[in-house]
Amino acid sequence: MSRIAYVNGQYVPYAQAGVHVEDRGFQFADGVYEVVAITDGGFVDLEGHLARLERSLDELRIERPMTRAALSVVLRETVRRNRVRNGSIYLQITRGAAKREFAFPAGIAPTVVAIARHLDWNKAAANAARGVPAITQPDIRWGRCDIKTVGLLPAALAKQAAKEAGAYEAWLVDEKGFVTEGSSSNAWIVTKENVLVTRAPTTEILSGITRAAVLELAKREGLKVEFRPFTVAEALAAKEAFVSSATSYVIPVVTLDGKPIGNGGPGVVASRLRGLYETHAANHSSDWQAPFISP
Ligand code: PMP
Repeated sequence: MSRIAYVNGQYVPYAQAGVHVEDRGFQFADGVYEVVAITDGGFVDLEGHLARLERSLDELRIERPMTRAALSVVLRETVRRNRVRNGSIYLQITRGAAKREFAFPAGIAPTVVAIARHLDWNKAAANAARGVPAITQPDIRWGRCDIKTVGLLPAALAKQAAKEAGAYEAWLVDEKGFVTEGSSSNAWIVTKENVLVTRAPTTEILSGITRAAVLELAKREGLKVEFRPFTVAEALAAKEAFVSSATSYVIPVVTLDGKPIGNGGPGVVASRLRGLYETHAANHSSDWQAPFISP
């Protein structure tokens, strides 16, 4: 089956899909993106992802290339042409292509790219059933982590370190010793008192759409949530830890830097939240979608 990518108004074969050499996404990481999960042919929390995308664009003063409805049509068509039933869609918008200069060039149109991928959700479920190892890495990112930019080099370096250590994710630690988030996920702990702790949505983290859904599900379960930073020591002393993201859903973290968290296995709270999230993700006609929680 040939793979098709959407590039600036056209659906083109993957092998021939390209943007200009002077695209500002390529030269300056001057662009933003979203990743949305697809289950049984439907998007998970699409509205929240599109709301966050619009905010990312607005924060960088990149022109919105089309309406939310038009963008949804492009995403759906890309998924349809690739016959993806279960997977994810990657959407990237850059400021556009122009002769290289740092300041914004006038009169250029944004570059829009969409790529659909197949994903085996059973693999994520197997990871969740086992629980995964994480390591810590210094958070060397910039001051606007709330904007979902394609400037992902610090995240790529952290993820590579995790891979080399045999870990699933790297938890990023700020200068004061507090965990900010994962390299591509939000970080959570469950205290001995059964309180969920995750950092407040500020400029230091990306406000996850999955996180917003998990917060809603936790609220419905009557769980207490505290929005505050936690240290690595607090995570190691916690009963449970987990990550959330569009393509991981909820995955329990069972070791940090090789040391067990809780009893060293997936915790009951994380496993319960994963189950609830799986149901939410499968239910496209659900009466609610996770919102984007603006910092
Ligand atoms: N933080 C970072 C740094 C991420 O890259 C991601 C994944 N895009 C997340 C958190 C989780 O966000 P979401 O639940 O919207 O996928």
